[in-house]
Amino acid sequence: MSQHLDAIIIGTGQAGPSLAERFSAAGMAVAIIERHKFGGTCLNTGCTPTKTMVASAYAAHVARRGAEFGFDVKGDVRVDIKRVKARKDDVSGQWSRGVEERLRGLRNCTVIRGQARFESPHTVVVNDEVLEADKIYINVGGRAWVPAIPGIHDVPFFNNSSMMDIDFLPEHLVIVGGGYVGLEFAQMYRRFGSEVTIVEMGPHLIGREDEDVSQAVREILEAEEIRVRPDAKCISLAKREGQISVGVECKEGPPEVIGTHVLVAVGRTPNTSDLGLDRAGVMTNQRGYITVDDQLKTNVPGIWALGDCNGRGAFTHTSYNDYQIVADNLFNADHRRVSDRIQAYALYTDPPLGRCGMTDAEIRKSGRAALATKYPMSGVSRAVEKSEIQGFIKIAVDAETKQILGAAILGTGGDEVVHVLLDIMYAKAPYTVVQRAMHLHPTVAEYLPTSLSQLEPFA
Ligand SMILES: Cc1cc2nc3c(=O)[nH]c(=O)nc-3n(C[C@H](O)[C@H](O)[C@H](O)COP(=O)(O)OP(=O)(O)OC[C@H]3O[C@@H](n4cnc5c(N)ncnc54)[C@H](O)[C@@H]3O)c2cc1C
Repeated sequence: MSQHLDAIIIGTGQAGPSLAERFSAAGMAVAIIERHKFGGTCLNTGCTPTKTMVASAYAAHVARRGAEFGFDVKGDVRVDIKRVKARKDDVSGQWSRGVEERLRGLRNCTVIRGQARFESPHTVVVNDEVLEADKIYINVGGRAWVPAIPGIHDVPFFNNSSMMDIDFLPEHLVIVGGGYVGLEFAQMYRRFGSEVTIVEMGPHLIGREDEDVSQAVREILEAEEIRVRPDAKCISLAKREGQISVGVECKEGPPEVIGTHVLVAVGRTPNTSDLGLDRAGVMTNQRGYITVDDQLKTNVPGIWALGDCNGRGAFTHTSYNDYQIVADNLFNADHRRVSDRIQAYALYTDPPLGRCGMTDAEIRKSGRAALATKYPMSGVSRAVEKSEIQGFIKIAVDAETKQILGAAILGTGGDEVVHVLLDIMYAKAPYTVVQRAMHLHPTVAEYLPTSLSQLEPFA
């Protein structure tokens, strides 16, 4: 016997639960299936736990700088990692439980725990239960990718998920991968008291960013005695007298880094290989990401893919935006599209990096006539008052339309302040709107008009 529903949602990431609410509110029968923790990556092993731990690391860092702010801390500032973990578990757990309770409280919504698999384009099997629906939404997210590094199966290593379970301080944490995830873990563990080395294959950390941004972030990390080994062309892992050797073959320096623990953070892979997509006829690309159109429809009518698994975004906000696009198309006849959204994200190191729009490299490639400005945080009064003067505000605008093309705000509050520019980009308004606006003093945002008054031809 199979159960017939109006909609089936697979996965409770950042899109599925909100979509279930919409179906429920519309009086339609919906089932949502989760095989592991409610709320997916963001709430359990991604954004929420890491930012909670980043907050602990920041507090320890400020405490160590007490003398600068006019107070003394007796003795060394020591982090009790068990308590840091307990706080993180508490915050994450609350959000995750909240998602489950919210879903279980919905009318017309069946919540099922288990691994979902397609049997056919409109049939899904979970725990021997057969569900049928005309509309199926895939929100299965992704997981840490395990690269084929020589020796990877010979040594224990962590990924972002298993890092969440450790309640001890690694003596020397070697992080393979100088991307967003790697850098956040690097700074937090350094501030907790570990020695940290980042091993990066490419020439720069956060390689998609402009070189000046990447270099400034590197300097911030190195100032905290985090070691960075770029150009590690041939990474390998091996056991070495109770420790772990990470072979790096860097152009400079010794050919290996010896650490006590290794975190591999080199990218993500979608959870699509065990979903029976072939039985439904749903197409994926070579890396397993589900192919979707501008409204997140797959090639099979009645099946959509939302969130990280469609390869159109890799953030909580992109997944949630996917939900909004699908729901507005479905329930409001509002023809929203993925291509309408503007690239935006943050790196949550301290200070954070807030990014929106194009990088300098992308602007150069586009061939557009542009103007640009770069203003140091050391000139921002709020940053000086907080003794947090690292970084800069960098903005580029189109010389003809005067619209903002892109920005990088590396500095205190950069993750929040960037929204001023992002919103003006969505409004398609000229930068002069921000330039002429009166902003509050003292804030970082009040320097956006100042910076925009110093535009020069884009180099
Ligand atoms: C360390 C780290 C830090 C991050 N920090 C940030 C940040 O600060 N800001 C930000 O915007 N993004 C951040 N991200 C990215 C963010 O977590 C993801 O982009 C976001 O969670 C994507 O959500 P999603 O909706 O695609 O699915 P996910 O959150 O991955 O959820 C998918 C769910 O589907 C379930 N599932 C999978 N397959 C099946 C199946 N066959 N049957 C049933 N259930 C299934 C999974 O168990 C999971 O619960 C971070 C990621 C990591 C790894």
